[in-house]
Amino acid sequence: MKKNIALIAHDNLKNNMVSWAKLHQLELEKFNLFATGTTGKRVEEATGMSVVKFKSGPLGGDQQIGAGIAEGKIDAVIFFWDPLAPHPHDVDVKALLRIAVVYDIPMACNQKTADLLIQGLANS
Ligand code: PGA
Repeated sequence: MKKNIALIAHDNLKNNMVSWAKLHQLELEKFNLFATGTTGKRVEEATGMSVVKFKSGPLGGDQQIGAGIAEGKIDAVIFFWDPLAPHPHDVDVKALLRIAVVYDIPMACNQKTADLLIQGLANS
C-alpha cells in the first residue's frame, strides 16, 4: 500500500519546495501526496502530480495535517518552515511539530533532511 506524505512550505520557501519536488518527482510518485493548500497547488502545477490539498496553513491546514497524523493517515511530513519570518499561525506550526514527535512520524524540516527522508522512504 502506498504511504501518505504531507508537504508544507512557508511562503519564502515555496520555490524551494517546488524545486525539491521536481528534483524528487520519481520518488514522490511512489506515494500519495497531501499538502497545505497553496503548497499543494504549486507542487501540482509544477510537476503534474496529483496532490490532495488541505486548507491553507494559516486557515487550519497545519492542524488538518496534525489531525491526519493523530488518526494514522499521514506517514511522513516534509515541512519547509521558515525560521526567519513571523507567522500568524505560529501556534499551529508548533502543534504540528509536537504531534509529529508524539506519533514518531518521520518529519524533515529542511532540504538536506528531506533528501535523506524521501530516499529512505522510497527504498523501504
Ligand atoms: P500554504 O500553507 O501551503 O497554504 O501556504 C503553508 C503554511 O503557511 O503553513
